[in-house]
Amino acid sequence: MGRKGNRRKFFKQSLKSSLWLAAGTTAVSSCKATPNIQAQYPMVISTWDNAKANEAAWKALSDGTALDAVEAGARVPEADPKDMSVGYGGRPDRDGHVTLDACVMDHLGNYGAVTYLKNIMHPVSVARRVMEETPHVMLSGEGALQFAVDQGFKSQNLLTEEAKKEWEEWKVTSKYEPKINIELHDTIGIMAIDHDQNISGACTTSGLGYKMAGRVGDSPVVGAGLFVDNEVGAATATGMGELVLKTLGSFLIVELMRQGATVSEACEEAVMRIINKQDYKKLQVGFIAIDKQGQIGAYSIQPGFVYTVTTVSGTELVKVNSYIKSE
Ligand code: ASP
Repeated sequence: MGRKGNRRKFFKQSLKSSLWLAAGTTAVSSCKATPNIQAQYPMVISTWDNAKANEAAWKALSDGTALDAVEAGARVPEADPKDMSVGYGGRPDRDGHVTLDACVMDHLGNYGAVTYLKNIMHPVSVARRVMEETPHVMLSGEGALQFAVDQGFKSQNLLTEEAKKEWEEWKVTSKYEPKINIELHDTIGIMAIDHDQNISGACTTSGLGYKMAGRVGDSPVVGAGLFVDNEVGAATATGMGELVLKTLGSFLIVELMRQGATVSEACEEAVMRIINKQDYKKLQVGFIAIDKQGQIGAYSIQPGFVYTVTTVSGTELVKVNSYIKSE
């Protein structure tokens, strides 16, 4: 048995014991389905129903890199006022401020992020500039805004009338209760494999609606909301960021694939790590991942998670049937 075969055997044994442990301690059963899209590249894949984003990314792939593609894709919901989980039109925090988190990671392992960024419509592009133009990987708050403005990004109000109206209605009770799938939810984690088989990813969000001022979720944090390792694959997360931050699911998925897990097994294990230790019953987290060949995997805590995939055959919305069912 080769090195890879050994690793796979080792992985299978340890995965079996950890899944058993998860099931034994939390009384869950899981519902599975393997996506029937063939492994292939080039490919673009994103969380939720993000067909327009995928199509913009696909277009960028025709003469650009995977990094160009994921940036182009992420910019679509960022600019869409109807998308209330990302960028312009995103739901504000409790105090009525729209604050944005985003990151990018490329095939060389470079990473850039912004957190708690106000007034800039395209945090994903600022994150790319952080990666390419600074000696740092993450800028936050006022510093991130200053950097963005210095880089020529326009500062503008991102709170739309619709989001303001919803926030004002929310203020009547001011009850903070995370909603599963906070439908229809559009925080975008997007990954692409280009013609050279290089992988990049991006993740961008306005975070949880009515979050506390200053709250930052998983989306801009490397290894949590997104991780890319060009030798192995990439993963991204959506949903309750606190759960993802405590388990670093995207890094875990890629690392498990490195050790021999299939994409689906790795995604499942990332969810198991959450449910084994956290109170997850009213919360949603969904992971999507790809390996270097363009094999797809996905897993979520609750039903209702979907992702969008674009290949030469077109764009498809895929319902994730692999999730945990509470008993
Ligand atoms: N994960 C994001 C956060 O916690 C939210 C989301 O995916 O919608 O900020």
